[in-house]
Amino acid sequence: MSTALISIGSNLGNSKETVAAAIKALGQIEGCRMTAFSSLYLTKPWGYKEQPDFINCACKIETTLAPLSLLHRMQKLEQDFHRVRNLKYGPRTLDLDLIAFDDVVMHTKELTLPHPHLHERAFVLIPLDEIAGNFVISEHNQTVNELCSKLTCEQKNEVKICDR
Ligand code: AMP
Repeated sequence: MSTALISIGSNLGNSKETVAAAIKALGQIEGCRMTAFSSLYLTKPWGYKEQPDFINCACKIETTLAPLSLLHRMQKLEQDFHRVRNLKYGPRTLDLDLIAFDDVVMHTKELTLPHPHLHERAFVLIPLDEIAGNFVISEHNQTVNELCSKLTCEQKNEVKICDR
């Protein structure tokens, strides 16, 4: 059994609903069990302001799948969500990133582990810290909590807790 950390994001349509449905769907992937998920966080868009706020969440999964198989299942979920949402309510986006998978280090065309940008993204680290603060991120050789504490105040202020 392996532990996988996943970041969930949405910034179009009813993002809270989309993220909640994604949490449920991730836990229902064959060979996966959802063991923890964070509160929802609201992230203000920066730079290009003419886009909706982001809703972000992190979750922890126990899985018997290999990392690439899990990524493929996540990508299938993203596609399913886009298709279903597009038909029913108009456009929705759902982004799922595999942040870490045990202590696996991988640099392939399809999958980089740990996720290459995790250490610079408050919207990934702050939700993760809530559920997996002691998880050691390989390559960085630091816990999620340690990486989180290195974020600047400015970075932290961009991420506000909004719901559980
Ligand atoms: P994005 O559209 O930014 O979510 O990027 C998706 C692309 O990143 C896909 O082609 C994936 O194969 C690739 N990728 C590489 N490493 C990861 C990872 N750790 N989690 C999710 N996607 C990844």
